Amino acid sequence: MIEIKDLHKSYHMGSNSLHVLKGIDFTVAEGEMVSIMGSSGSGKSTLLNILGMLDEADSGSYTLDNTIIKNLNEKVAARYRNKFLGFIFQSFNLINYKTAVDNVAMPLYYQGVKRNIRMEKAMHYLEKVGLADWAEHHPNELSGGQKQRVAIARALASDPKVLLADEPTGALDSKTSYEVMELIQGINDEGKTILIVTHEDDIAHMTKRIVNLKDGIIIDDSVVTQVRAKSALHV
Ligand code: ATP
Ligand code: MG
Repeated sequence: MIEIKDLHKSYHMGSNSLHVLKGIDFTVAEGEMVSIMGSSGSGKSTLLNILGMLDEADSGSYTLDNTIIKNLNEKVAARYRNKFLGFIFQSFNLINYKTAVDNVAMPLYYQGVKRNIRMEKAMHYLEKVGLADWAEHHPNELSGGQKQRVAIARALASDPKVLLADEPTGALDSKTSYEVMELIQGINDEGKTILIVTHEDDIAHMTKRIVNLKDGIIIDDSVVTQVRAKSALHV
């Protein structure tokens, strides 16, 4: 599903430059659930943003669902992003003046889906994350966990092939984090490919594989042999 080879990325600020990714190689098969770990500043978000086509690498190759992602114009890139990728963020990124159901329906609006179908799909995904009763509420009336569920429903609304989550539990307490991760595990069980950036070991151990970044390269890439139980997380 995802194949990257010898990916490099530097940031330039004035005369300074920072080489963040120094040759990243990895492959993610359809249906995998992978976490990307590493200390703050190790380049996790940079990598996820490149995978999410929100940013481009300086060199190396990126293949997504057999398509080489390179030098696409913004219109084509947007089409691929809509079709292939769903995003979840630490800070939820919901629109505060829109209701939960309207937030979920948003990506479908941008894809030109008709209103009645949009709302039907949005309700379907809100039900899936257990929030059907909250459809008409605004984000400020929801708890952190509920907000993240709305964001997950929104990410799923266009049925992307891959879900990319940058610290999805970073703003949640451990009990709520566990519940959100259980929801994400369920989505993976249905076949969705999922990549999660996290710096929390317990969260990473709820995925099936952990990729560790350090100093711009992958220093470890291991299968999780035993998914961590709730009791081990003290929740
Ligand atoms: P965190 O765990 O704190 O979120 P991270 O692993 O996600 O960290 P990145 O956000 O990928 O790290 O950043 C990697 C390095 O690149 C950091 O040193 C950061 O300051 C720098 N960086 C990130 N984005 C930019 C940018 N747009 N311009 C310049 N430097 C950047
Ligand atoms: Mg980050």
